[in-house]
Amino acid sequence: MAALPANFGAPSGALSGGRIALARPLAPGVSAIDANDPTFSDLAGVLTGMKPVTYTDCFPAQFRRLAGLCRKLKLEYLLAEDYLAKAGHHFNNQKKMVLIGKTKSKLIAAAKAWAVSPSAWGTYLGYPACCVKKYSAWSDGKKEDLVRATARNTRGAGRLDFRLNNVWNYFSRMNFENPADRAAYAAFLDRNQGLDLASSHVVSWHPCSYRCPASVKKAEVIFGFMARHAPDYAELLRGLLARQVIFWDKFRYAALGPALPRVRSLLDAKTDALLAACGPASRSRAGIKLAGPGKKALTLPKEALLLDFRSA
Ligand SMILES: [Zn+2]
Repeated sequence: MAALPANFGAPSGALSGGRIALARPLAPGVSAIDANDPTFSDLAGVLTGMKPVTYTDCFPAQFRRLAGLCRKLKLEYLLAEDYLAKAGHHFNNQKKMVLIGKTKSKLIAAAKAWAVSPSAWGTYLGYPACCVKKYSAWSDGKKEDLVRATARNTRGAGRLDFRLNNVWNYFSRMNFENPADRAAYAAFLDRNQGLDLASSHVVSWHPCSYRCPASVKKAEVIFGFMARHAPDYAELLRGLLARQVIFWDKFRYAALGPALPRVRSLLDAKTDALLAACGPASRSRAGIKLAGPGKKALTLPKEALLLDFRSA
């Protein structure tokens, strides 16, 4: 992951050069960690017991550092491809798949499950069973974007938990065989240079609904751990995620609220700027209502979704 530019707008000390400074060390000698490979959320999941196993892919040159971190944190690791000793399960040719957890036997079980079904092995990673089931069904059909499917499965009114916001988490949601999808993703990353989107989430799995109780429970523990050890970084994440999002499709949405740091989709610049200048949105019978600049009311037609992640 490239170093972040100085104008990132993060609370001071939260993130610098791709490293997260920890106010409270994770172990003797671990007072800062990499923002990625693994992400802090994944590491927090393992250290709190919310995830028996997590995985990351890393370049051979980074592996020694990762192994050193595991030793200091008293965690086990397993090179999944070496263990399985067969081809066909690489993310790409250069990176190695590394499983990390507290118990070796669980790493081995996860590696075996991964070889059988990359979409169903989520239970071995501690993802709630309801979410694994929903994700697998979506993955088999892929008729609509995952966020829309998740929103449709979300019942009830009121704000949603920001820790479940996965709108710009494209892991396991991309169709890399589709050139249009690949091009859109590249354009999206280009538009958000300076934001470390690969690590900008609290739960690394896709929840079955934005009110999934099992996900909320785990997310609370994971975010609590992150906030205890790196309060500035946790605030940065909250600032990114705890927003109202107006969503059309996979690469067209608008995160409302203050400009920095704010994720920008591929929505046309004019609409994005207009929505960013609006006050909070609310649902009405006609669609989504916003107080536009100059107090002019704006109504968006019904095909737009309002995902309100402004939970406390
Ligand atoms: Zn669930």
